[in-house]
Amino acid sequence: MKFITKKTLKQTKQFTIIKKKTKQSKRTLKTKTKTKTKTKTKNTKNKNSSGLQNMNQIFKSVKSLHNYDTYIVFFCSDLNNHIKRIESLLDIKIPYNLKNEINNREEDFIDFYLGNKNFIFGNYKKKSSCKEKNCHENASIIGKRLNNTKKKYLIILNDNQSLNLLVSGIIQGYYKFTKYNSTLIDTPSIDFYYDDHFEKLKNSNSIENAIKININQCEVRDLVNEPVNLLNSTTYLNYIKKSLSSYKNIKINVLNQDQLKKMGMNLILAVNKGSNNPSMLITLEYINSDNKEDKNICLVGKGVMFDTGGINIKYDEFYDMKSDMAGSAIVYSVIKTLADLNIKKNVIGVLPIVENDVDGKATHPGDIIKSYSGKTVEILDTDAEGRLILADAIYYCKKYNPKIIIDIATLTGQVAEIFDNIATGIMSNDPKISEEFKKIGQIENEKMWDLPMWDEYIEDTESTMADLKNINRGDASAINGAAFLINFLPTPKTKWIHLDIAGVSYNLEETNTRFEGATGESVRTLINYITHH
Ligand SMILES: [Zn+2]
Repeated sequence: MKFITKKTLKQTKQFTIIKKKTKQSKRTLKTKTKTKTKTKTKNTKNKNSSGLQNMNQIFKSVKSLHNYDTYIVFFCSDLNNHIKRIESLLDIKIPYNLKNEINNREEDFIDFYLGNKNFIFGNYKKKSSCKEKNCHENASIIGKRLNNTKKKYLIILNDNQSLNLLVSGIIQGYYKFTKYNSTLIDTPSIDFYYDDHFEKLKNSNSIENAIKININQCEVRDLVNEPVNLLNSTTYLNYIKKSLSSYKNIKINVLNQDQLKKMGMNLILAVNKGSNNPSMLITLEYINSDNKEDKNICLVGKGVMFDTGGINIKYDEFYDMKSDMAGSAIVYSVIKTLADLNIKKNVIGVLPIVENDVDGKATHPGDIIKSYSGKTVEILDTDAEGRLILADAIYYCKKYNPKIIIDIATLTGQVAEIFDNIATGIMSNDPKISEEFKKIGQIENEKMWDLPMWDEYIEDTESTMADLKNINRGDASAINGAAFLINFLPTPKTKWIHLDIAGVSYNLEETNTRFEGATGESVRTLINYITHH
């Protein structure tokens, strides 16, 4: 391991501090487009093949430290000993003044050269500053920097606790949806190395697992970023089928429109009536528990390929409504990841897939529809369509006698008003489940917070002209959406939690702490929850 000699060390005195950017000022869509066109004229070669396959090639776990352009080290505690260890591992001598600088700069990165090798050191020695949010966000700042280069990076991890967050931050920070941008990009190689000198890994697959989970989360981001002209219900189904074809533990079933009609899943059909693409209900059955008594966990994911609002058409810009299928993409990805990690559980994914479009045939406000459960619903607002398709899908879970139903949906704009893009709004008929999700969300840096499910809200979903109405006259629309769903649980005792990801799933612009476009948020929390329940 002789990539650097003591001679070259003397020549290097310079180093820089990577300043964390403050929240970027709001950019308009117009300026964004302008910048993109500008870069296009500079470089027209298409060297990029983005997508999941590419991500699998970029990120891996290694056991060797040789031959890298840049070494990135995160120090989380015991700074002096860790620095000594890194000096011996990499056969380098870090100048005294630099060590001081590293010591003094908490929650910052120091970027310096020794010879022709680049080093980026991040210091989180204070326990309080190594909390989940900072750890994840700081790693994602580094991840963003690694995009669009051809270099070879080695990331040295030495702290068991923060390993998942650091791997996640790097990969999620690195990800960009560039599939259709022909001007980009050089791709780096980014390897992870775990130094177990101080702390042995509890699970030797930890890094590999973290990489898998996060690459699969990037797949969610890819699917959600795809516009509806390139990903409609049929092409989505084909994609899922192809992707899962080699998974022996996952069985895919599809109910087409005729079957939905025969079964009486009229709410799913009603939402899709204005669309040229067919609606469907996809189920992904992942059966891998050793315990025969083990009951199923049902995941229901909202799959609205595009939401115009229907006859109650949306106003203002709503191009981001291609992201209204994020819940279904998350469910697909979670099931696939559980199989990738060989988690011994039985989990059923239920994906109602529709497109809420405008047409003479479309469902009209005031229409009364009989749901799959038999309850009739007065559709007062065609833009409150998510709860309609979820209602039929949740009742369909009866077939699987679930121990819990978890639904994931970009359901209400109000949840984004309450929490902005900072947290998922959770609502449950069991406060204990909410507490668990809040706790795990914190660990995974996917914040979740609960809203109450008081009886008043549930009573307010009743209609006079039909059994239920899909909106109420009150102001608590995020809760009202969830309260509507309670009416469709297979039994009143079925445990259930609703994840409203409308705020967190898609960002119109990038900030220091949020990614542009789809985020895939809640994937890590769901995998963590299911693994431990
Ligand atoms: Zn809608």
